[in-house]
Amino acid sequence: MEDIIAQTARRWLKERGVTVDDIAELVLFLQKEYIPGLTMEECRKNVEAVLSKREVQNAILTGIQIDRLTEKGMLEEPLQDMLKRDEGLYGVDEIIAFSIVNVYGSIGFTNYGYIDKMKPGILKRLNDKSTGEVHTFLDDIVGAIAASASSRLAHSQAPTPLVDD
Ligand code: MG
Repeated sequence: MEDIIAQTARRWLKERGVTVDDIAELVLFLQKEYIPGLTMEECRKNVEAVLSKREVQNAILTGIQIDRLTEKGMLEEPLQDMLKRDEGLYGVDEIIAFSIVNVYGSIGFTNYGYIDKMKPGILKRLNDKSTGEVHTFLDDIVGAIAASASSRLAHSQAPTPLVDD
């Protein structure tokens, strides 16, 4: 049974139009070249594992809350304008994303940088500024969850080291 923080993080993601499958597709995009025969099911499983971490849930709640308040014009200036325009030099959205990626080691940073540049799938929609929606924090958080799930997957593929005895 999931607790209230885990449940709310999942619900808010869904309300903002992001499903586990959307994130699993990003994982598939990042890893299919390196893991032959990789399935959506396996990607989904790794996304679920990342979503079960408290620091990830905290990042989701914080980021979505700020995005929603920005969308309603409820922040004070100059922050309101910077977040509404997704000002490139702001950077705090990326710091929150790093706090997620950090949990899974250095491969995550490479994956995050790559996916943030390519913006495949759901990331393209979250970055569409013509909708009136604000996803300044959520796009980085979703990219970070995908990058972390990819790292987790990559590590699970590594051969078990032989132990001398
Ligand atoms: Mg952003």
